[in-house]
Amino acid sequence: MIVAEQKPIAEIKDIVAPYSRLLVLGCGTCVKTCFAGGEDEVATMASALRLAFKKDGKSIKVEELTVERQCEDEFIQQAAPCVARNHAVLSLACGVGVQMVASRFTRIPVLPGVNTTFMGQLEKPGLFVERCLGCGDCILDDFAGICPMSRCSKKLLNGPCGGSQNGKCEVSPDIDCAWQTIIERFKAFGQMDRLTRYYPPRNWSRSYAGGPRKLVREDHMV
Ligand code: SF4
Ligand code: SF4
Repeated sequence: MIVAEQKPIAEIKDIVAPYSRLLVLGCGTCVKTCFAGGEDEVATMASALRLAFKKDGKSIKVEELTVERQCEDEFIQQAAPCVARNHAVLSLACGVGVQMVASRFTRIPVLPGVNTTFMGQLEKPGLFVERCLGCGDCILDDFAGICPMSRCSKKLLNGPCGGSQNGKCEVSPDIDCAWQTIIERFKAFGQMDRLTRYYPPRNWSRSYAGGPRKLVREDHMV
């Protein structure tokens, strides 16, 4: 899922300050799961803004709404009546959701309320960890299902750096050494020979280089 965290309230207050009618728009999927932009966070954010502006003697009307996903048109359209009543939208979705809403409602500013951080997994309650950079050419099969680019601090493709201690990355004892995990998994599979191969430099043409990427599925086009 996409992991995000809310911007500090002081920053959000500055962003929304020019507007006297504001819609705080939540997203009920990824950002809900990581406690950044679901229904509960929308309610908390709306109350915090009302209070903060009241304290400053400024009157602001804040409306609340959460749609299932801000990255899908059919859900965004449900927000149209609320959007029409307001002067700006504070979106608590990831950067994709903010831009999607902005592209649907072109006459109203759509402002980001969260910082989109990474693609990751929930490791245990309250702990989200990065697991994928979206490189466009997945090589997990060559690394025992452990992504060396998102999980090794140095993005090494040809074995560990030698700095690992007790299974932890030398960058921080909070980080498991990705290569230690790769080696342990290959050992468990009986496939240690896979570690002897040289991995050539990656072709990054499917990644960020070359501008915004597209995925075309002609079989689904109408
Ligand atoms: S190899 Fe690429 S696509 Fe696969 S998990 Fe790593 S970054 Fe993501
Ligand atoms: S200690 Fe392990 S995870 Fe950290 S940089 Fe070295 S090989 Fe990568």
